[in-house]
Amino acid sequence: MSSSSPLERRVAILGATGSIGTATISVIEHLTRIDAETTWRVHGISGHHNLDRLAEIAGRTAACKVVLSDPAVAADMPDSLAGRFPAAASLEVGPDKLVELAAAAEVDTLVAAIVGRAGLESTLAAIRAGKRVAIANKETLVVAGGLVREMSRRSGAELLPVDSEHAAIFQCLAGGGIARRIILTASGGPFRQATIEEMRQATIEQALAHPTWSMGRKISIDSATMMNKALEIIEARWLFDCPAEMIAVMIHPQSIIHSMVEMVDGSTIAQLSPPDMRLPIQHALTHPRCLPGATPTLDLTEPSRWSLEPVDTERFPAIPLGFEVASVGGTAGAVVNAANEAAVALFLEGRIRFTDIVTACRIALENHHHESNATLDRLLELDRWAREEVLRWQERSNF
Ligand code: NAD
Ligand code: MG
Repeated sequence: MSSSSPLERRVAILGATGSIGTATISVIEHLTRIDAETTWRVHGISGHHNLDRLAEIAGRTAACKVVLSDPAVAADMPDSLAGRFPAAASLEVGPDKLVELAAAAEVDTLVAAIVGRAGLESTLAAIRAGKRVAIANKETLVVAGGLVREMSRRSGAELLPVDSEHAAIFQCLAGGGIARRIILTASGGPFRQATIEEMRQATIEQALAHPTWSMGRKISIDSATMMNKALEIIEARWLFDCPAEMIAVMIHPQSIIHSMVEMVDGSTIAQLSPPDMRLPIQHALTHPRCLPGATPTLDLTEPSRWSLEPVDTERFPAIPLGFEVASVGGTAGAVVNAANEAAVALFLEGRIRFTDIVTACRIALENHHHESNATLDRLLELDRWAREEVLRWQERSNF
């Protein structure tokens, strides 16, 4: 079934130099080749550190606006900066420019692919401006899910999940019917079968080596601790407006079933595909149209074996933490997200052990005074507090 669509779509990709950003560019190049109804244009892009990559993408996409969000990178090379980019592209520097680009009148679709809380303001700006937002930046929903819901209701913004599990759930729900339970699948990451002691000793390289997905560093560590699944429980709670009790998590090491929805009539609907982020990205960009994809498909005529097993919450305490945060809502998401970001950074600097990451999140959650309704300013204040709290805890513990 095809539906009417505008003739031109103008996309901004924030975090264009990253893993999701790169996959998005490949999807848009594919759509440019195969979509006869719509002209796909990349209006703007952003990147934080990698100037060469940003300049290459600016040339490849012919973007009019380029934002270099880290002013320190620009300060290092004030004279030669603009000369690195195509003459037709206007270059702007600094985090405020992300917000301007996300809300620009020329943009109808934002791909929110910045990692971490740094993506919050720009994602909210696009939601406030009523855009279609293809949301990879799950941290925005974790920090401010309640505000996102309220804002998108007011502005009419369309939130389309890019996270593969949430894109799967979205597709499972598309047929209508009443859902009774949402079952998020998780690969289990590189330490699915590791003991707690092995995880305590885990190196950075081991933690980054994801068995089925190739992703940015932060989400790779999140997948290893299963904080990624914890964040996804919270993300699902807000995206689908469902109570935490309706959500379940199952380990599915093959990453073929991306999630499932159990309906009240007793049937369960699942979405399956090989693990490739181009599929959910294309879905978010073209919905409700379903266009030929560029990704491999499953050969279901060949013998295959998939498994589903419950999570061992003793080895992966992130999972009960995620359910708790999804259940209490309010300020808990902002605190746990910030603590996790701070702890992941400490682990990647070799200053804490792998298993300390989730402990740091638990300590920050327990040391904060929960508030049910908080403004954005208050959430950002708690974000800063939680990062400091993790640093204080690390210093006190004298690792
Ligand atoms: P990545 O590290 O590969 O890329 C991150 C992007 O954000 C880069 O373009 C970087 O320049 C930019 N960035 C980093 N710090 C920034 C800052 N302080 N301000 C502005 N920009 C900054 O990350 P990724 O794996 O592409 O993940 C991006 C988002 O998508 C994350 O929220 C992640 O959880 C989510 N996600 C990723 C995948 C995946 O397969 N990679 C899957 C599902 C969801
Ligand atoms: Mg995911």
